[in-house]
Amino acid sequence: MKKMMVLFALFAVAAIGARAEDEAGQFVGGDYKSGIPWKTPAVVTPGDKPCDPPSDAIVLFDGTNMDAWEGGNWNVADGVMTVEPSSGSIRTKQKFGSVQLHVEFATPPVNKDENGNPVDFGQARGNSGIFLMNHYEVQVLDSFGNETYPDGQCGSIYKQVPPQVNVCKAPGQWQSYDIIFTRPILRIEGDEVVEVIRPAYITVFQNGVLVVNHWAIQGETYFHRTPNYIPIEDKEPIQLQDHHNRMQFRNIWVREIPDSNVIPAQDKIQHYE
Ligand code: MG
Repeated sequence: MKKMMVLFALFAVAAIGARAEDEAGQFVGGDYKSGIPWKTPAVVTPGDKPCDPPSDAIVLFDGTNMDAWEGGNWNVADGVMTVEPSSGSIRTKQKFGSVQLHVEFATPPVNKDENGNPVDFGQARGNSGIFLMNHYEVQVLDSFGNETYPDGQCGSIYKQVPPQVNVCKAPGQWQSYDIIFTRPILRIEGDEVVEVIRPAYITVFQNGVLVVNHWAIQGETYFHRTPNYIPIEDKEPIQLQDHHNRMQFRNIWVREIPDSNVIPAQDKIQHYE
């Protein structure tokens, strides 16, 4: 009887082993459970097209009005918002921390002289920007056959990292940014940042193509000096930059990413009992 039980046990182990591996010896089964008490993800209805706002998005511009914004003098016509050059940047009235952000933009036609040669070059052509938390700029620029420093071209995190590829469309054509931004966690004492507990992270898709992959933002995206973190709130407005060019924007929406859904501060792997 004992022999029989041992044989049965060996057979059972062999059977389990056969189920757990395919012919190439690769693991295919098993019943690992992490033990983390994940909640069932909420059901969200996607837009008909990938760029349409999903049901839980906060729509910042649907083509009809500037109600979500304050600041410079921007006009709305034909479903598009246009910056009146040098009238000032605009900011969302609502403040945001970590977000998924969708923005569509078009750079203006190239100014040309009487011989048909471009008048403006580099940073002077189709310049704007999307400032996450009012401080960290994803550059908007006409980089379609228009050279400038790599970490200042369209798709860059300004003066920090160039886009991985130049996927810009021609002036006047609509382009998209899909941005995933995780807010920084800063220890602030008085008016000083005494510790960057976790930097901000950013991932950017331009026209559906990955251009910035999980970049650790180094701090403020200054023009004239090295970046550093300065005190900010946990939530700040999203800013669209007026850089003296007649830029157009449309279809802007955002989804807040709750802090509970962000990697823990020290990037540690957590296991819950
Ligand atoms: Mg800019």
